[in-house]
Amino acid sequence: MTRERFDLLICGGWVIDGTGADRYRADVGVREGRIAALGDLADAQATQVIDARGRIVAPGFIDTHTHDDRYLSIDPGMAAKLSQGVTTVVTGNCGISQAPWRPGWRREVPAPVNLLGNDASDFPFASFGAYLDHLDRHPAAVNAACLVGHTSLRAAAMADLDRPATATEIDHMQVLLREALQSGAIGLSTGTAYPAAMPATLDELTAVASVLRDHGGLYASHIRDEGDRIFEALDEAFEVGKAASAPVLISHHKLIGPRNHGRSEQTLAHITEASQRQQVALDCYPYVAGSTILRKDRLAVSSRVIVSKSVPYPEYAGRDLHEIAQHMGLTPEDAVDALQPAGAIYFIMDEADVERILAYPGTMIGSDGMPHDPAPHPRLWGTFPRVLGHYCRVVGLFSLEQAVHKMTGKPAAYFRLPQRGRVAVHHAADLVVFDADTIADTATWASPTSQAEGIDSVVVNGVVAWQAGAGTGARSGRVIRPERR
Ligand code: ZN
Repeated sequence: MTRERFDLLICGGWVIDGTGADRYRADVGVREGRIAALGDLADAQATQVIDARGRIVAPGFIDTHTHDDRYLSIDPGMAAKLSQGVTTVVTGNCGISQAPWRPGWRREVPAPVNLLGNDASDFPFASFGAYLDHLDRHPAAVNAACLVGHTSLRAAAMADLDRPATATEIDHMQVLLREALQSGAIGLSTGTAYPAAMPATLDELTAVASVLRDHGGLYASHIRDEGDRIFEALDEAFEVGKAASAPVLISHHKLIGPRNHGRSEQTLAHITEASQRQQVALDCYPYVAGSTILRKDRLAVSSRVIVSKSVPYPEYAGRDLHEIAQHMGLTPEDAVDALQPAGAIYFIMDEADVERILAYPGTMIGSDGMPHDPAPHPRLWGTFPRVLGHYCRVVGLFSLEQAVHKMTGKPAAYFRLPQRGRVAVHHAADLVVFDADTIADTATWASPTSQAEGIDSVVVNGVVAWQAGAGTGARSGRVIRPERR
């Protein structure tokens, strides 16, 4: 018998395959970027060997909610993500994507599109296809699956964003979305909670989203209201999804403000009921604070506000808003104006809601990290190890197999990412080797970019991209184009 030969052999670990099934002992043989064999491969030869004894071998994690559109190009090592075991990021969430953009069309980058870049020159792609081609030609260390943002479509099609789109503008957005889906976008996101998309009516949303029906693709919604009017907002997202025959993804599901704390019991029941009629899933990050642009309407519902970025006052990043306001001799409201463009972290949620939503079977894990903030929310560096360490091992919210499923097999199936999210023969060799006993987030409010512990190795398309606490320099990520229905 000839000895089998692999490019990479991961030996002696416990495989958690991403389906939710129980772990089992197996070696993993990788050839030409794919998983070629599973089982007892003690007799095989390999160019490179990873000793995984005492470790878990799982599919690489899929970060279902990111704003990494431009981070992929400007920091292709993607350390914030790779260091957590993430091998695929879903970009273009909350209605904002780096493409398409009309060069010369507007000088100012409207909020919240400016979460991705402050300057018009940060948006060089006139079409979504051009953006994906660029990523194809300049791969990052992780894979990307890319959504198109409705607010970005508005910014390309409309001169003024403070009103509903006209029929001609809707036509224009449909053309841009069609081009994006044909080029390999995985779907459409909206963010009607933000002023730049707030005036969009249900008719505008359903008209734009209707393009999804012909091309496949998912509908991700940062819903209009995560506070007092959350049920209407959820129903609007369900409506849009139904009209477009598209699976719905409710982004970063949460309940904002003390008055709404505890209501996740009802929202989850409502979501379960909707999922009898249509496909619905959620994503969630494992923290009681949110983060987005700095806005006054969040102050009253937050118990604490930390400024994560200020373009005119970079020295204030990482400090509490009330402290900054005192220092500037302003009211907190006036300080919000003075600091713009700016980002912030808001303590607005209740721990019981976070845990209930995380544990819900329809929930996937998405960091919503802000890679361009100088003092980012710690979710950028900590989300996945925090779910596996704190919420799985310490709190016992779910089994390790269930936690891994929420990060791998479930999102791969929901986003229709072909041959991803499972440890199975013929699947892409996106893999993470970690220590279930020590995996932990270390990023905190005070030290938000601290690297997680317990991740041994991360493999992206068969290439070792992270090992011994550092990136290897590999850039083996790809654009993942979806399977079409
Ligand atoms: Zn959002």
